[in-house]
Amino acid sequence: MAHTVALAGNPNSGKTSIFNELTGSTQYVGNWPGVTVEKKEGYIKGDKKHMVVDLPGIYSLSPYTLEEVVTRDFLIDGKPDLIINVVDATNLERNLYLTTQLIETGIPVLIALNMMDVIHKNGDQIDTEKLSQLLGCPIVETSAVSRMGLKELIKTAKTMIEKAESSAKKAVFSQPLEKALTAIERILAGIVPPETIRWYAVKLFERDEKVMQRLKLDGEIAHTLASIVETTENELDDSAESIVTNDRYEYLTSITDACHKRVRKTGSLSTSDKVDRIVTNRWLALPIFFAIMWGVYYVSIQSVGDLFIGWIEWIFADLIGSNVALLLETIGTSTWLTGLVVDGIIAGVGSVLTFVPQMMILFFFLSLMEDIGYMSRVAFIMDRIFRKFGLSGKSFIPMLIGTGCSVPAIMASRTIENQRDRRMTVMLTPFIPCGAKLPVFALLVGAFFPHSAWIASSMYLIGIFGVIVSGILLKKTKAFSGDPAPFVMELPSYHIPRLKSVAIQMWDRGKQFIKKAGTIIAVASAGIWILQSTSWSLQMVETQDSILASLGRLIAPLFSPLGFGSWEVAVATITGLLAKETIVATFGIVLGLGNVTEGDPTFLASIGTFFNPVSAYAFMVFTLFAAPCAAAIGATRREMQSARWTWAAILFQTSVAYAAALLVYQVGSLLFLS
Ligand code: GDP
Ligand code: MG
Repeated sequence: MAHTVALAGNPNSGKTSIFNELTGSTQYVGNWPGVTVEKKEGYIKGDKKHMVVDLPGIYSLSPYTLEEVVTRDFLIDGKPDLIINVVDATNLERNLYLTTQLIETGIPVLIALNMMDVIHKNGDQIDTEKLSQLLGCPIVETSAVSRMGLKELIKTAKTMIEKAESSAKKAVFSQPLEKALTAIERILAGIVPPETIRWYAVKLFERDEKVMQRLKLDGEIAHTLASIVETTENELDDSAESIVTNDRYEYLTSITDACHKRVRKTGSLSTSDKVDRIVTNRWLALPIFFAIMWGVYYVSIQSVGDLFIGWIEWIFADLIGSNVALLLETIGTSTWLTGLVVDGIIAGVGSVLTFVPQMMILFFFLSLMEDIGYMSRVAFIMDRIFRKFGLSGKSFIPMLIGTGCSVPAIMASRTIENQRDRRMTVMLTPFIPCGAKLPVFALLVGAFFPHSAWIASSMYLIGIFGVIVSGILLKKTKAFSGDPAPFVMELPSYHIPRLKSVAIQMWDRGKQFIKKAGTIIAVASAGIWILQSTSWSLQMVETQDSILASLGRLIAPLFSPLGFGSWEVAVATITGLLAKETIVATFGIVLGLGNVTEGDPTFLASIGTFFNPVSAYAFMVFTLFAAPCAAAIGATRREMQSARWTWAAILFQTSVAYAAALLVYQVGSLLFLS
């Protein structure tokens, strides 16, 4: 049977980076806390006998967050053969706080002292040998970034597993606490395995309810326990939990004082802190964030991204489109089939793929901002703002993930313990513009606002604004009232981005769009083309007399007050439910944009029949808020675990979309069109 090695450590200590290096896999590496929700498993490269499990990052083994519970259940029930405790050497004291608790579980602990590259650069010194002696655990210095120490880490891990014994030294607490723990251990003897007895004793001392329930201690024992704890609390005049915390820190300080020398004098600020002073400044934070988003949009949509558009359009319209048409004609295919393939599938898929370069550049920048560590600052800034409005700052991490795709974002809401906050986050996360909405924005911006990067980046502003306003409103209802869950967030220090992990993330986010174009968009395009060229009696007809047109006319009046009441656009809002890119594909087919190049007069004339600048913007706002795509609705259903709540979410999102677009169009028309 394979041996199990658990990777445990604080958020952002580099667990996932080390996991990826050890197993050769490409798990998501994020520079903000809380990215790894579920545990991930993999074998050590070329070695099926050692399985590594990447656990969620935690600061302690208390029972307060889902991550902590997942981790400790795994350690206590899963009984891994070894814990590799990834310790961020630049934050030694805080990281070792968890280490002392891991040691108490009785499982052998090997410390990977990570981020040593940063320590060396700062000129700090850690006496690793002494630290190892004091803790009784082997320590290997590593740097996941420069792949230092990883071979030795694997070697040491294997030796330790073979020996299967632990020489780790458990924390020594103050005398009154030790006395209490010894008394509790005496009670527990025979009830729990001897090697884990210290862990159980500490947890029972802390009145950890989850542990109490699991041991099912009967009345008398529970009573004795309670009196031991109370006696100690009275003696030290403090609550049980803070007694343990204080003692643990005291023990730790005695260890770190002996082996850690900082070059930097306390009081002076590191570069990271200096940058943070500006970037998270109360007044500057938001302007800086929006300026950065503006820049990102400017580069990805207006300048660099735009360069590629002509090329791809040329490839699809002139190269593939015309030649396939020619080929099909030569081999004598019916006009019907030629139309389906060329004007339907190729035009639809092509109009979506046109935007892939822009999307990739956007994803590149988002991944870059994340890897550098800026995104966790954004979460921090947003937490500050959100909390003022009674929302949990924890909601913002799913929303940041939502800048790529709402599906993983909705799933990430699982880290939110409080059910009300979680439901609200699932409902509001799709308001943040995802990658698939980008083509819609880019298309309309290209046609109506070719010189302003503000229009597309304003979608972020409006999305966040929508989240805040909806949050305030929802909080007033009975289903959502209550205080937001507290959210403690540590700011990781900035990193030089690693091109490899940025590239992996960019590709991870981008490839699904290409896949979608080849599958769902292709099928949808075929369907739309068929519906727009046949009548109810299944005859080939002009678009005006097609099934699609008659269905579109049925719902179009609904959208007239929003400024886009033509049946063509009405149809696009509905096909957008399949996937947001389908909106662009629909325009490509129904408006015939697939065969004209952006910027050329035919294109503008064609799209100008259906929109003016104000209604185009209203349509963008509608797309931003409206019920998300089928995949995201599916994710909503899974996370809500209730059909009723799913419908409530869809209804809510669509109402917000309608109201916001109505407002934009009516007010915008008054201001700009009269
Ligand atoms: P996790 O939250 O513990 O899984 O941490 P991650 O593996 O996601 O890493 C968090 C951040 O630290 C990422 O930006 C990594 O690129 C970076 N990182 C990880 N290991 C090292 C290291 O040894 N040195 C440096 N300088 N950065 C690292
Ligand atoms: Mg991780």
